[in-house]
Amino acid sequence: MTLQFDDLLSRSRTQCREDAIKAGLRPGNADDAWVELHRHGCRQEESERPIIRTEEEGDTVKFALRMHDGHETESVILPMQGSTGKKRITLCLSSQVGCALGCAFCETATMGLIRNLEVAEILTQWHVAKHTLKQDITNIVFMGMGEPMQNLDAVLQAIEVLGDRSGAEIAPSRISVSTAGRVKGIDRYREFMNRDGWRQVRLAVSVNAPNEEIRKELMPITRAESMESVRNAMQRWLDDGGQKILVEYVLIPGMNDHPDHPQQLADWIQDMNCRVNVIPYNPRRDSPWPAPTEESIDLFIADLLSAGCQVNRRRTMGRDVMAACGQLGNPEIKRRVPLRIPR
Ligand code: SF4
Repeated sequence: MTLQFDDLLSRSRTQCREDAIKAGLRPGNADDAWVELHRHGCRQEESERPIIRTEEEGDTVKFALRMHDGHETESVILPMQGSTGKKRITLCLSSQVGCALGCAFCETATMGLIRNLEVAEILTQWHVAKHTLKQDITNIVFMGMGEPMQNLDAVLQAIEVLGDRSGAEIAPSRISVSTAGRVKGIDRYREFMNRDGWRQVRLAVSVNAPNEEIRKELMPITRAESMESVRNAMQRWLDDGGQKILVEYVLIPGMNDHPDHPQQLADWIQDMNCRVNVIPYNPRRDSPWPAPTEESIDLFIADLLSAGCQVNRRRTMGRDVMAACGQLGNPEIKRRVPLRIPR
């Protein structure tokens, strides 16, 4: 018996050693095979998950992989300049094929949920980016297709593997999980964060609305998880010593960009340790809304700053190849579901 590609990919080095011992194999051999695979990219051919598409816009690369059952994942490589001027290469990973949450502005939502990705399928995205596309990945964000908190066991296991110093060696502070607001998921991720060595992992919450009424229009999850319950979960994260939370706000003309909205959002955040990340809306296919104008983005950000918020603007990257935030998803997928068009 030997350890298979998926076993090696989806387990940490320590877990692989333990598996080898249980299977009566020499742990040193498992160690060597693990390091070869993660560090040096060997046995790539065994993944049998070929890249079926790559699309590029500037430095941004979107790639799609085919899984064993024919379904596809999409991932995006985003080179950026960090705040210190150092180059960062962020890999945006998918955690599901499609998504069940039905956010009105999101291309992935039109697919519905097809299935969760397995740990090896999540990590294959990293392996291909690192060893086939030769990208020196420094940061990981779970912001691709799917709601990571709906597949949290697999996501947490993938994070453990990605953080392994003998392999991908991505520091916890460079790993971020983004949620549409799954309270139980935030609480479980908080428990993970509390384990030794993981205190620095990051949480992002996709809020996208200044009040409950608009959030219900844009994000059906709000009917199950009120903004107050999401806020309480965020507060628990911070009270437990979690890092500053990124509040994501997709700015959509005519929906959540009224002059009153920055103050409403600031009131909701109150004194939580958060930074608002304003993401200019990237029109999905058949979008009822255009992208916001530069003037409206600037004005919204200025009003947030005046209201006392810390603010970033997400640089728009990959819009032309449908690789930007909220644009992942295969238009040919058969389980395409109609989206409600608010108002
Ligand atoms: S924005 Fe995220 S949570 Fe909402 S439908 Fe898209 S992938 Fe799912």
